[in-house]
Amino acid sequence: MSFQLTIEPLGQTIEVEDGQTLLDASLRAGIYLPHACCHGLCATCKVAILAGEVDHGEASNFALMDYERDEGKCLACTAIPQSDVTIEADVDLEPDALNLPVRDFTGKVTRIENLTPTIKGVWIRLDDAAGIRFQAGQYINLEVPGEHHRRAFSLANAPSSAGEIELNIRLVPGGKATSWIHEELRTGDSMRLAGPYGRFFVRKSTRIPPLFLAGGSGLSSPRSMILDLLEEGCTLPITLVYGARTREELYYHQEFEQLAARHANFHYVPVLSNEPEDSPWTGRRGFVHQAAKTHFGNDFRGHKAYLCGPPVMIDACITTLMQGRLFERDIYSEKFFSAADAQQVRSPLFRKI
Ligand SMILES: Cc1cc2nc3c(=O)[nH]c(=O)nc-3n(C[C@H](O)[C@H](O)[C@H](O)COP(=O)(O)OP(=O)(O)OC[C@H]3O[C@@H](n4cnc5c(N)ncnc54)[C@H](O)[C@@H]3O)c2cc1C
Repeated sequence: MSFQLTIEPLGQTIEVEDGQTLLDASLRAGIYLPHACCHGLCATCKVAILAGEVDHGEASNFALMDYERDEGKCLACTAIPQSDVTIEADVDLEPDALNLPVRDFTGKVTRIENLTPTIKGVWIRLDDAAGIRFQAGQYINLEVPGEHHRRAFSLANAPSSAGEIELNIRLVPGGKATSWIHEELRTGDSMRLAGPYGRFFVRKSTRIPPLFLAGGSGLSSPRSMILDLLEEGCTLPITLVYGARTREELYYHQEFEQLAARHANFHYVPVLSNEPEDSPWTGRRGFVHQAAKTHFGNDFRGHKAYLCGPPVMIDACITTLMQGRLFERDIYSEKFFSAADAQQVRSPLFRKI
């Protein structure tokens, strides 16, 4: 049995399948509702129910308190309608968002490569010949056989090569999905995934020079965004500050050096935080935020910054950017949360990704 979901203030009504959450139905209809953890833990997707009944599902008592349930609030990521429902959501109208509907895909692994000792490149050719339409910077949820939850991985290829997608997957110690991908996944295996997800994309219409700050496998989204901008013939200055622990963890280094040599408007600033002192590395040393501060002389005005990587790197970069006079409205981030981070995101006051 399906129900109707009306989303205010948009005034749009969509169908919700039996057992489907409000968030899933909205994203698949191409309507973006703010969300983050997708497991009822972080409260980013809290909305007001104006009419109708929902089952709150696995919403945690921290993220959705009893008095909020009584007041008619719910978490869109866990709430399942029990009748036709009308909600009021904090829907931001973002001029650069294409609002592409989320779809399910199947595909076959065509290539697996060790990009670094801890990051594998995984290429998947999608069975749908048209491929996946996405905005550079967005991610997919990959299904791991036998696992209840899907795992988020950003698309590392440019949207122009939508038939075969590339993922850059870092092995998380103790992580079920990434261990399986690193140890058991083979070329020719079938995969299921859904996407595109996320609001991490270049605000192209602003015509403001983009600054990408990335760490580890957080290079995936910025790589897609940079390839896309360069393919389109973007003439704005584009800067990538990319940090890794050691030289062998710095991947696509040559590709970015070559891009910088070919495109006068593209600047590549690699930085290593843990490279042995006696190594032949003559480039920058330190963390991403420190390298960015030095490169820009602690003045980031006139940029839009796109940050991608582990939460600790993003927090350090945001502080540095704001100290260097970049406003919060010009900073966009994609934190590579894992289950361990999600467990810590319990406060209902925590709403920012
Ligand atoms: C939007 C987005 C995009 C991303 N893109 C990428 C990408 O392009 N590349 C990439 O490498 N990563 C990316 N990530 C991160 C990636 O999704 C995670 O690393 C991945 O989900 C880990 O899955 P896993 O099954 O291996 O680990 P899990 O089994 O989920 O565990 C992760 C860690 O948490 C610990 N843990 C598990 N359960 C709990 C618990 N209940 N309490 C405390 N600790 C626990 C585990 O021991 C382990 O250390 C992205 C994340 C997000 C949110």
